[in-house]
Amino acid sequence: MLKLKALLNKKSKNWIHWVVGILFAFILNSILLNLPLDYFESLTYDWRVSLRPTPTLSGKIQTVAIDNRTLKEFGNEPNIKDHLEFLEQLLKAQPSYIVYLIDPSSLLGSKEEKQKLADKLNSAQILISQDNLPGAEQTELPPLPIPFQNLKTLPGPTTRDKIIYARDGVTRRFIISSNGAPTYQVILAEKMLSEKLTEIPGEFEFLDSKQAYIDFHKPGTYLPLSFSDLKSGLFNAENIKGKVILLGRETKEKSLDYVSTPFSKDVISMSVLELNANILDTLLQKRSPQKVAPAFNWVVTFIILLTTIYVVLKISPLKGLIVLTLLATVYIGISFSVFAFFNYWIAMAPTLLGLFISYYFFIPYRLVLENRRSWEYLQKNKLLVQVEELKSNFLRMMSHDLKTPLARIQGMAHLIISDHNPLSEKQKTAVENIYSSSEELTQFVGSILNLSRIESKEVKLQLKSRDINLVLKEVIQKCEDLSRKNRLEIRTELEPLFSFKIDENLLRQVFTNLLENAIKYSPVEGKILVTSEESNGNVIIQISDQGMGIPEPDLPFIFDRFYRSKNALQSEVSGSGLGLYLSKYFVELHHGHIEVESFVGKGSTFSVVLPMINKNYLEKGKTSAAREDSPYV
Ligand code: ADP
Repeated sequence: MLKLKALLNKKSKNWIHWVVGILFAFILNSILLNLPLDYFESLTYDWRVSLRPTPTLSGKIQTVAIDNRTLKEFGNEPNIKDHLEFLEQLLKAQPSYIVYLIDPSSLLGSKEEKQKLADKLNSAQILISQDNLPGAEQTELPPLPIPFQNLKTLPGPTTRDKIIYARDGVTRRFIISSNGAPTYQVILAEKMLSEKLTEIPGEFEFLDSKQAYIDFHKPGTYLPLSFSDLKSGLFNAENIKGKVILLGRETKEKSLDYVSTPFSKDVISMSVLELNANILDTLLQKRSPQKVAPAFNWVVTFIILLTTIYVVLKISPLKGLIVLTLLATVYIGISFSVFAFFNYWIAMAPTLLGLFISYYFFIPYRLVLENRRSWEYLQKNKLLVQVEELKSNFLRMMSHDLKTPLARIQGMAHLIISDHNPLSEKQKTAVENIYSSSEELTQFVGSILNLSRIESKEVKLQLKSRDINLVLKEVIQKCEDLSRKNRLEIRTELEPLFSFKIDENLLRQVFTNLLENAIKYSPVEGKILVTSEESNGNVIIQISDQGMGIPEPDLPFIFDRFYRSKNALQSEVSGSGLGLYLSKYFVELHHGHIEVESFVGKGSTFSVVLPMINKNYLEKGKTSAAREDSPYV
């Protein structure tokens, strides 16, 4: 018993699981955000860049490419003469700036032509950029060979994530300045915007440089004009006027002229020329993707890890899986939208990885807990079964042992009452009280015995073909004494019925209980009506009284064991609350049912409906036997 109490009182220590969960989320989160997950994170970054709607263009950039058509037309790379003619045409259209992404000193031409080009390029409007950075402790690039030595060349390096970050060779960043020396893109953007770009959104430090992420447009967004067309004057001046002209190569001959981008890891995903247009536009529009603060990532990941742990521990596995899939989808959706519409980069890799790790760690944890819990339940169950058995045995023993002395008391009281020797009035009343009390006790003991038989599933139907009207008459007769005492009138309307298979003994107990209740709960001189009829293959027996009735809130419970209605409890009528429970059980054993209709102060009607073809026979395969006895044969 003590063992059972201990087991029942043992409250599961839920808080321990939560402490484990919070600690786990805290540690995992701290590890995850410090893990080198750049490669996976960059995959999610590339996916965001590729799938978002293309950002707007500043419209201030026009690219010009030395393309395959140019090579075909000139039979080779354009020489200095071609460049001089190209510049003449171009300058006529009044661009705001021209950027040479080509090294002029590498062009072929005579000494005079070279000098001429150097003079032309020396204009304030033309910038020469090199894919290079000033050396250590230098702020400028080394001068070009003579006669270009006086041209100011500016750094315009191309970054590739080869040995840092994702290490996949993809271009995602650009350099703002190195060793304090700004790149041509920043210088040009400042000139175009006529303002100093002190801080570019998303700017971060790397070694001695300041860098930022490129606000990429899909490859092919900046459609270049062909160098050959420009040289021949075949262009619309409107496309040039007031714009920055970037001149570069797009011949698909040299891989150095191309970069891999978030859109494709192909080595010729985008030309360096178009990349420069993207970088310049990023600066002109001050739209560089920014990483959210690390604290934000920490908090969001922590919340998601805690949610995952909660879902795994608290929700059913299938529902949990759906909830977590939804959670991951919503998180991905939000991160994507925040990037697409606000250019903010929320870390995805550590969060999603954390979600998977916590899921796979806590699923076995939950299994262990559940296993332990079901073991505890099993133990509790075992003990409860033992207690139940003990209780039934005790009840049976007690009622058996009470039965014999009770019968003896009853017999003796009867003997005294029926003795010829006269008793004083006092003695007579006392003996009559002994008799009725022992009768009541006998009934109670009988009910308890029945209850324990029901609970140990010992009640078996003993079916015999009987006329139910005879059983009813017998019950009414037995209750006559009681009804007479209360000056009650019992009327009967019994329709002639065919005999059918019933357990006479059990149904007698049912009707006795219903009739005794009708008598018990009726006022003096009340009327009771007992009817029987056959309808649709059922026999319906009704016992109606004009008694106290049952309050509506009690009605759903009166067939429960030991239940007594409020008004019955307040009255002087004694009872155990077992009669209706037993009656219902016995009627249902016959595959019938019992109903009640009752109004307080007006009376109650109990109806017992019994099927005439007893299903117990059909179930046992004795269909023919049932048919032989059936009134329909
Ligand atoms: P009891 O021994 O208390 O009569 P029963 O199980 O036979 O136990 O009935 C359960 C309860 O249903 C009763 O206590 C009483 O509240 C209510 N009840 C049953 N029959 C009647 C009736 N004919 N009139 C009013 N109340 C009734």
